Amino acid sequence: MPDGIAPQSTAGLIEALGPGGWIDGASDDAAPFLTDWSGQYTGKAVGVARPKDVAGVQAVMRYAKAAGLGVVPQGGHTGLVGGGTPFANGGVIVLSLKRMNRVRSVDPANYTMIVEAGLILVEAQQAAAEHNRFFPLSLGAEGSCTIGGNLSTNAGGVNVLRYGNARDMVLGLEVVLPDGEVWNGLRTLRKDNTGYHLKHMFLGAEGTLGVITAAALKLFPRPTATAAAWIATPSIPDALQVLDIVRAETGDAVETSELITRALVDTVVAKMEGVRDPLPDPSPFYILMEVSTTRRSQGGEAPADLLEAALGVAFEAGHATNALIAQSDQQRADFWKIREQAPEALQRIGPRISWDVTLPISSLADFYAAAETRMAAVAPHVAFYGFGHMGDGNLHYLAAAPDIKQLRELLDRTLYDLVAEFDGSFSAEHGIGQKRTDELARYKSPVEYKMMQALKNTLDPDGRMNPGKVVQA
Ligand SMILES: Cc1cc2nc3c(=O)[nH]c(=O)nc-3n(C[C@H](O)[C@H](O)[C@H](O)COP(=O)(O)OP(=O)(O)OC[C@H]3O[C@@H](n4cnc5c(N)ncnc54)[C@H](O)[C@@H]3O)c2cc1C
Repeated sequence: MPDGIAPQSTAGLIEALGPGGWIDGASDDAAPFLTDWSGQYTGKAVGVARPKDVAGVQAVMRYAKAAGLGVVPQGGHTGLVGGGTPFANGGVIVLSLKRMNRVRSVDPANYTMIVEAGLILVEAQQAAAEHNRFFPLSLGAEGSCTIGGNLSTNAGGVNVLRYGNARDMVLGLEVVLPDGEVWNGLRTLRKDNTGYHLKHMFLGAEGTLGVITAAALKLFPRPTATAAAWIATPSIPDALQVLDIVRAETGDAVETSELITRALVDTVVAKMEGVRDPLPDPSPFYILMEVSTTRRSQGGEAPADLLEAALGVAFEAGHATNALIAQSDQQRADFWKIREQAPEALQRIGPRISWDVTLPISSLADFYAAAETRMAAVAPHVAFYGFGHMGDGNLHYLAAAPDIKQLRELLDRTLYDLVAEFDGSFSAEHGIGQKRTDELARYKSPVEYKMMQALKNTLDPDGRMNPGKVVQA
């Protein structure tokens, strides 16, 4: 089909997409694309388009315009706020990018690579490693989520402290716009001050402004050694002191710093197979911390030695009460099992609500204490769990009780009002999707919300891109 021509019928679109490029929305094969990973969001679509190349994405956008349909971009479908799932009223095409999964190029000397949006995150990490480079984005869903989804949600994960969010790892983008036009912004420059940096409009936009089809990503020197520790600490202020000490004593080599509560360890050990509590005596809080180096010759400064010395300082000061430094890859993996299996273990405890909030790191302890008090005051029978990426001030907060769904509005308001009092954000890394559109309208200032609406209406005047998600026109 010549560039710029819209397919005139569904049959024309199916032909343009080629074999395997279209699944009818009513067929059983469409089901995995219509319900998300958590099973919480499910909807309908006219069909699922699975293009293999940019021209296929253009064909979908042009057909959708001609047919008056919305388009819901989708990657690994692991997002936790229903952003990649259509609504129940249909009227959309699900656009799965998963067949656009090529590594287009790797340039080790420039520390960059260009990959397509449907590439699975773990495969992007492997492509970098094959060239002795490191792509640091890492999260629990990395075996299923895609680069396009990661960039569209500005994903965080476990390495934000050292490398930043997904947004910080992007030099350029290729995007198909709502009218089917392609913006080729795949530049691999680290300095480029030539007007507005348009890539930022699409990063974190959750598919509401255009379809990311490829990205130029930053790479880093590959770590040569990593040490992991499981650390018991009496309180959140102590946990923050441990982080501060280890950052200073290791020359800021901390890669990961995850806060884990006792209640969470008990839940994961009880609900998941093959997970062990690493330490014999219980402690209210734990930190899973990793320190790494990219040095090839470590001359007495191996990460495990640096970490041990730093933890010695933390013990002396009373901020840590016990710790294990992993002695093998297996022991390191066992520590990680507790953190990585937390989402699934929490799924098994019954009806629950989860939140993903972020605070200035300096307010984390006061916020946590205030949240415990206020949530217990409004819902004394509810079990609360908190854990998160401590080094970024990011707390995943979860409440469970048989009647929890009836309490949603009360608990949302209690927690989010408190987050606002502490100058935090009600969505740290999962985004807005369909879950938090009301909160966006409530907690953003009118001027900020109005600018978001203006951007949406300018780039997508027909409201075709992921309709009803994020910002309401
Ligand atoms: C076990 C587990 C652990 C997780 N841990 C983390 C974590 O630590 N940190 C974190 O940030 N997230 C985490 N997540 C959430 C999720 O994995 C991320 O949001 C991830 O970035 C989503 O990628 P995806 O490919 O699955 O996107 P999807 O779920 O398919 O889509 C997410 C959003 O992006 C849009 N989108 C997808 N692809 C494109 C594209 N090519 N162009 C335009 N828009 C697009 C969709 O429309 C949707 O709005 C976790 C999820 C699970 C299940």
